[in-house]
Amino acid sequence: MGADFRAVRNGMLAALHLIFPPRCIGCGGAVTDDFGLCAACWRETDFISGLVCDKCGVPLPGKNEGRAELCDECLTIARPWDRGRAAILYRDTGRRLVLALKHGDRLDLVPPLGAWLARAAEPILLPDMLVAPVPLHRWRLLKRRYNQAALLSGALARAAGLDHCPDLLARPRPTPSQEGRGREARFANMADAIQVARRRQGQIMGRPVLIVDDVMTSGATLAAAADACLAAGAASVSVAVLARVAKEG
Ligand SMILES: [Zn+2]
Ligand SMILES: [Zn+2]
Repeated sequence: MGADFRAVRNGMLAALHLIFPPRCIGCGGAVTDDFGLCAACWRETDFISGLVCDKCGVPLPGKNEGRAELCDECLTIARPWDRGRAAILYRDTGRRLVLALKHGDRLDLVPPLGAWLARAAEPILLPDMLVAPVPLHRWRLLKRRYNQAALLSGALARAAGLDHCPDLLARPRPTPSQEGRGREARFANMADAIQVARRRQGQIMGRPVLIVDDVMTSGATLAAAADACLAAGAASVSVAVLARVAKEG
């Protein structure tokens, strides 16, 4: 029966692919399976693997020997969360995909990017973890119509079989964009900008939380979100981002 079902399903997929051939999510070129990248886009996407910083997920030189290592930034900047992972570096195709999801209405990117994120976050997931996105202020949400972080956190939670709470965190006041600010200004801009929504306070008490965002630059936004979760009684906080901005070096 299973084999029959698979044969029928494969036949249907084959027929569907004649009508809608699978496309590369990076460039739209033809690829052989769904949700994939063509060879050229694959080469231009920096998937993070090997030894990484245990707080921010940036790749580190050396071999992964199972010890938690930290990058220079995470040794010097306060990171109120326990552990963190990132799926890709924010450059080339990775940067284009993040921008397409954020500003380009490319909701078709959510399943593949969510799968990449879930795979990267796997080593830091805990049983009973509550998954929540970095929030947008409601004015920005109205303008953009969706929170790309919430789409990613939903995909990750589904893939990992964890509870998703898209409105766990709130941004009660609009904060000016972080773009074009230095690190100090980014942290000052985000201080106290994120809170646990009052109606969600009972849910977070005593639970491990995973905060999800699309990009991590200075970590100021994630720090504000982590502080809010810990203040509301979360047992622990970790973070997962699709893309990490890394200094070229
Ligand atoms: Zn491509
Ligand atoms: Zn780090």
